[in-house]
Amino acid sequence: MATQQHTTAQLIDIESRLGAHNYHPLDVVLTRGEGVWVWDVDGKRYLDCLSAYSAVNQGHCHPVIGKALMEQAQRLTLTSRAFRNDQLPLFYEEICALTRSHKVLPMNSGAEAVETAIKAVRKWGYDEKGIAEDAAEIIVCENGFHGRTITIVGFSTDPVAREGFGPFAPGFRCVPFGDAAALEAAITPNTVACLIEPIQGEAGVIIPPDGYLRTVRELCTRHDIMLLLDEIQTGLGRTGKLFAEEHEGIEADVTLVGKALSGGFYPMSAVLSNREVLGVLKPGNHGSTFGGNPLACAVARAALKVLIEEGMIDNARIQGDYLLEGLRGLRHPGIREVRGRGLMLAIELDPAGAAARVYSEALMQAGVLCKETHTHTLRLAPPLVINRAEVDWLLQTITEVFEHRTAP
Ligand SMILES: *Cc1c(COP(=O)(O)O)cnc(C)c1O
Repeated sequence: MATQQHTTAQLIDIESRLGAHNYHPLDVVLTRGEGVWVWDVDGKRYLDCLSAYSAVNQGHCHPVIGKALMEQAQRLTLTSRAFRNDQLPLFYEEICALTRSHKVLPMNSGAEAVETAIKAVRKWGYDEKGIAEDAAEIIVCENGFHGRTITIVGFSTDPVAREGFGPFAPGFRCVPFGDAAALEAAITPNTVACLIEPIQGEAGVIIPPDGYLRTVRELCTRHDIMLLLDEIQTGLGRTGKLFAEEHEGIEADVTLVGKALSGGFYPMSAVLSNREVLGVLKPGNHGSTFGGNPLACAVARAALKVLIEEGMIDNARIQGDYLLEGLRGLRHPGIREVRGRGLMLAIELDPAGAAARVYSEALMQAGVLCKETHTHTLRLAPPLVINRAEVDWLLQTITEVFEHRTAP
């Protein structure tokens, strides 16, 4: 293998010379993963507390998913949707049963699922709600994250994501997250949908006030607006429920999934619709060469199966509660708040103190990989297969870094 002939420094040098610098990764070069653990090219082991932004909820290289991938890869990988394949219908059946959805549209990346949903709710607005041509509006939230395409960054409030990339598509209204009154005030006769993360992930694990999603659900129903929940990061067990919407006992009209849908093996996303939003799409309206391919579907079927059968969702709740409690016991003047739901947690640092990057580098030295979101938030989101002994090790390591050793 090529990597065995290269040192860490050489690999980093090649990457920085030849690659676009659209990321600022920690200087760790990983070569192997198993469960919650990953190893770098020098053989050092780390506990992965990012889980590829929640794409590897099932743990690294889950053997059942790996087997499904290998078997399908040797049988049939891609047909395009010009023909049918024998995996897609079974994926539909299984994900609909699991999520109580009526229709599914498979895509590849999360951003593509968001784009697909935007197209579908707009068309629903014109075809079913009778909105005048090109007048449809979608309400989105400040500090939200939904991906990196032009349409999506066009309604982002993050200047780094957005500035220098215009012109942008119109048709979006942005309101503060967690404020149902502001959302209601933004509703017009042309509103077709609200696009919301149930917990804002990239913003730093921002949990809205209790009752917020329930109120938004009521507003959407009352005004005949589609509630579109982006569960690409919060969904599939991360928060201790299959979907984060369940914490408020609501159901979205359209739910977006991605990331852990394939357990980190293969890019796959999907739009799930409870009502007839996806029913408005006709042949030729939308498509993707790789969307719904048999390899992706076989992988997703296995990824969903192990998520359920191996009790990962309950484990996320149990270990998440325990980890949160442990983190709340941390004594360090730089910590402002610890918050989380399930295994989606964050340590909020005092903005007057050292940047989160300093802590993520200290944690990396100690064998814990996590990535700061923004300058003063550390997100902790290990794979959902983490066990009690691993959580204890994690807590002990974080405590050492914060309370004893390398802490700034
Ligand atoms: C990661 C993410 C996306 C985008 O997914 P990609 O696969 O990176 O395009 C969209 N929404 C949320 C909430 C995400 O966390």
